[in-house]
Amino acid sequence: MKVLLFGKDGQVGWELQRSLAPLGDVVALDRTSTEYAADFSRPERLADTVTRLRPNVIVNAAAHTAVDKAESEPELARALNAAAPGVLAQAAQDVGALLVHYSTDYVFDGGGDRPWREFDATGPLSVYGQTKLEGEQLVARHCERHLVLRTSWVYAVRGGNFAKTMLRLAKERERLTVIDDQFGAPTGADLIADVTAHAIRSLMHEPSKAGLYHLVAAGETTWHGYARFVLAQAQALGEVLKAGPDGVDAVPASAFPAVATRPHNSRLDTSRLREVFGLNLPHWQEGVARMLNEALRS
Ligand code: NDP
Repeated sequence: MKVLLFGKDGQVGWELQRSLAPLGDVVALDRTSTEYAADFSRPERLADTVTRLRPNVIVNAAAHTAVDKAESEPELARALNAAAPGVLAQAAQDVGALLVHYSTDYVFDGGGDRPWREFDATGPLSVYGQTKLEGEQLVARHCERHLVLRTSWVYAVRGGNFAKTMLRLAKERERLTVIDDQFGAPTGADLIADVTAHAIRSLMHEPSKAGLYHLVAAGETTWHGYARFVLAQAQALGEVLKAGPDGVDAVPASAFPAVATRPHNSRLDTSRLREVFGLNLPHWQEGVARMLNEALRS
């Protein structure tokens, strides 16, 4: 089996390089790749890459993920998050490939407190959310065999993330102030990548499983709960902090005005994914504890 991976060095892309390897030959590209075009700001050139490589599976982990920046560069966000996946979908359809694509809880308006199901009404609040919604719609429209996985609050050992920022701040200050009215589940890039590999193998035998799914770790928290957990774990691992979990003050999102509006309710219902693919999704605390262990003990 030949797998073509775009966005190979992002949080999810990096983990996919590991998890996809046992499936077959993986051709992993990023925007600087020279032999094959993989710059999503030039979507029209991506079809040629697919036609030349003729993969069985395309996995797209590239995206414009700078949520605030997207508000001031909507054309670029639309090229990366919508036009490029649209081109990939048409090209995948033409060569008979399965296309795996990632989307986000930001396609919803964040109302209520019930976990969102796949076919609930969307209502993005930001350019990022709107362009990601357009992307998933183009994928579904142009490629019959597609897998769109909506996820949220992604972290990885590699690169910066919310947990590492909290740790840094907790070493500098005695008190931190963190939002407590946005709800979701921190989800590891490693979990997303592993589930992707399982789902691809399953879909190869049962193409009827194609479609849209929610993929997040189990449980829920707020950024405030997440920060408290991170600091408690770090202390348990022997880190010396000025601010422990009790030094984290809760504030509403309105205390931190951002350029782009974020949803209050980012809970995603994963029953469909778990049932169709027979998967168990671990609690978010397990993944975050593991990430901290790796980050602090390495
Ligand atoms: P990252 O920001 O870590 O990675 C994005 C990747 O896209 C990087 O490899 C980046 O490359 C690449 N990219 C950026 N611009 C271009 C371009 N012009 N051409 C080609 N590649 C480009 O994102 P994640 O791994 O966190 O996200 C993976 C998926 O999950 C995305 O679809 C995202 O929308 C979705 N998602 C992410 C969430 C999160 O919290 N991060 C939450 C919900 C969904 P480079 O390193 O060169 O910039």
